Amino acid sequence: MKGKKGKTIEIECLVCGEIVKIPNLIDIEDYDGQLTCQKCRSLLQVKLVGSKVNKYRVVKKRPRQLTAEEYYQIKREAEKEIKEFEAGIRGENG
Ligand SMILES: [Zn+2]
Repeated sequence: MKGKKGKTIEIECLVCGEIVKIPNLIDIEDYDGQLTCQKCRSLLQVKLVGSKVNKYRVVKKRPRQLTAEEYYQIKREAEKEIKEFEAGIRGENG
């Protein structure tokens, strides 16, 4: 048993903004490697020194994939705009 409790570190995905989980296997005191965002699957190059983020950047950006929730929200907004637009046309025609 170790007295030192595992430190946690949070890295925000540069693509989607989600907090990227760092596997326990990774030594956050000294790590230079790649992490994958669980949400958007983008690959980030991360450098950790002394349990702090030293440097990180996007290696591979996956094509934007909408969640079902986001999709329906966009769809609803678009439908609303279409209705308003159509109402406008009808209104002009009397
Ligand atoms: Zn992401």
